[in-house]
Amino acid sequence: MPSITTPGIVLRYANYRDHDRMLTILSPRYGKLDVLSRGCRRPKSALMPASELFVYGEFVCYQQNDHATLSSCTISDTFYPLRLDPYRLTCASYLSALCAAAVQPGEESAELYALLLKGLYYLSYEKDADALETTTAFLLLFADVIGYRPRLSRCAHCRTPLDLANGAPFDIAAGGLCCPMCASRSTFRMSVEDIKWMSETIRSGLKPQKNTGAGTLFDVLRRYVEMRLETPIKVSKLLP
Ligand SMILES: [Zn+2]
Repeated sequence: MPSITTPGIVLRYANYRDHDRMLTILSPRYGKLDVLSRGCRRPKSALMPASELFVYGEFVCYQQNDHATLSSCTISDTFYPLRLDPYRLTCASYLSALCAAAVQPGEESAELYALLLKGLYYLSYEKDADALETTTAFLLLFADVIGYRPRLSRCAHCRTPLDLANGAPFDIAAGGLCCPMCASRSTFRMSVEDIKWMSETIRSGLKPQKNTGAGTLFDVLRRYVEMRLETPIKVSKLLP
């Protein structure tokens, strides 16, 4: 029976039959993997600790007729502190749900995997980091990784170079900032600081965010990303 060994993060699970659970795991090499964790809800099951949300570790699965079944897992982290803070738990659930919506089975996903791992790490262990702002930065970088980096230097409609001295309108459907000529009622005003923050975040990658006011961008970036995914993500309704 062929077996797969892969690092992974549990993105979600669904209880199945009386004692089982179907896990959706993000693997850097295999993308989204659905794996049956058989008997994990029985008392004393060795698979129980690995069959929880956000578990990060090395998963060993065996495969039979298109079905993968978990045989063991060496856990690296469970991001336990998330369980103690409902708001951070909601943010982390949103990060996972975004990855589950974006990644296909068999699709190489190393960049997204690394981004999610950082996001979970900061939400769990960086006590000074602002959870909403860290989630906002994740949204922006997530958009970049899945191929939808917002246009920030030229108009998303007519490609004219933008003068950003006084901020600019952001057009969600068009995919970025736009010039005054192309602005419409459906655009959102962004300040110079917002735009600087976005450029800087794209340049420097995910960092624990320290409440600089960028949380106001959350709603725009959420709409922007969810429109690209063509899926509204339920848990985001609980934020900010
Ligand atoms: Zn324009």
